Amino acid sequence: MVYASTVTETVDERLLVADPQIDEVMDLATGEIAPAESWVSGDYQQVLELRMRLMQDLQANRPLLACPMCAVPVHLVSLAAERRFYFRHETEDGRCPARTKGRLSGEQILALKYDGARESQAHRDMKDVIAASLRCDPDFSQIEIEPTWKGIDANSRRRPDVRAVWKGHLPVAFEVQLSTTFLRVIAQRRQFYLRNGGLLLWVFKDFDMGDARLTQDDIFYNNNRNAFVASPGTLAASREAGNLVLDCVWSEPSIELGQLGWRQFHRHASFGELTIDQAAQRVFLFDADGEKTQLLGGYADAELRGAFRSYWLRQPNSYDEDLWTELVESFEARGIELPTHPGMGQGLYALLDTLYTVKEGRAVGWRYDTLVKLAHHIFERHRGHLWMFKLMLAAHDRGAQIKREDTTRKWRAKVPVYREAWASGDKDFDHDDAWDDLVAFLFPEIANELGTTPH
Ligand SMILES: [Zn+2]
Repeated sequence: MVYASTVTETVDERLLVADPQIDEVMDLATGEIAPAESWVSGDYQQVLELRMRLMQDLQANRPLLACPMCAVPVHLVSLAAERRFYFRHETEDGRCPARTKGRLSGEQILALKYDGARESQAHRDMKDVIAASLRCDPDFSQIEIEPTWKGIDANSRRRPDVRAVWKGHLPVAFEVQLSTTFLRVIAQRRQFYLRNGGLLLWVFKDFDMGDARLTQDDIFYNNNRNAFVASPGTLAASREAGNLVLDCVWSEPSIELGQLGWRQFHRHASFGELTIDQAAQRVFLFDADGEKTQLLGGYADAELRGAFRSYWLRQPNSYDEDLWTELVESFEARGIELPTHPGMGQGLYALLDTLYTVKEGRAVGWRYDTLVKLAHHIFERHRGHLWMFKLMLAAHDRGAQIKREDTTRKWRAKVPVYREAWASGDKDFDHDDAWDDLVAFLFPEIANELGTTPH
């Protein structure tokens, strides 16, 4: 008989010492800052391998990890008796605030880490790419890497990753964003550059909304849903175009089945194509917030237009006080006045019945079974509506129909009459503009021509 044997390996629950001095480490290749546990966890053997690798890389002068507070490379120290580990600086010269971080504010710690993150290879590469791209652009001058930017407030200063002056007047700070820990620093930087007449542009190494990282999101949403990516590819494009080219990532809104949704796009864009909103510290290619407002406004308008149409098409004999009052209020909110009862509006019934009849292609309100009969009636009784009637006929392509219905050719004879009247300024045929705002809202297809001289 063969017994299956189960081999279990003991996995240490905790391989990091409790309360380590260096509780986060920075990957010097990528600039990512991660908790110490994420490196020292799981398998004892893996941690020993990491310890070996860190030592070898240090000796080869290619350090892998550093302390995010001071950017000094770190190695792993083992407490053999406890089989536990902690990170220690390669050189302990007392300059690292990690020792005394109990006395630092959260803000100070973040600012230190922010500066430390600049020492990663990825960060240095990005600064070089941005500066080299800027040098391709004759609109940018005074290009500097990590210059000191003195603020108007005493002792306030920043050291942006790259700084350049746009068209001789607007200083632009380019800040590279590789890590995810700097929300508060980001908010402060915006304020600093706003107060000091500059513009702050965040630049990413890559940007993927699917990989929703909080700091990226924060910059993205505060920048009108536009983000900028620099890479060797955009540097090549900058050289070719002879100006600063970045990859712009943006979201566009749409409404489907009553739901607002967003789709992501990206393309190379020159700095000159971007909209600069210095007051809000926003730089964007696509005005996502503006588009959203317009879209929602248009959607709400379409809904109200539909509600009014449904109400009117139930006519006659269906006056509904509550429903009408609701419509009155909704239109009032848009600055359009409706009478307290539809019958109280001067000429309103006849006008809307006429316009809906043409739009729907069937009699609404009127008892005329053809358009040509309605046309004669308008000519005789509602001359002020003729211009709107004509515009609607054209907008809904009813010309052939009315011609066909005009078997007596009497309508044809009237066309030059009202045209003449309009041309000669005959008061009798003046366009009745009492309901123009309402008509323009309900029938946007004729809104543009409504206010022009009838012809
Ligand atoms: Zn340190």
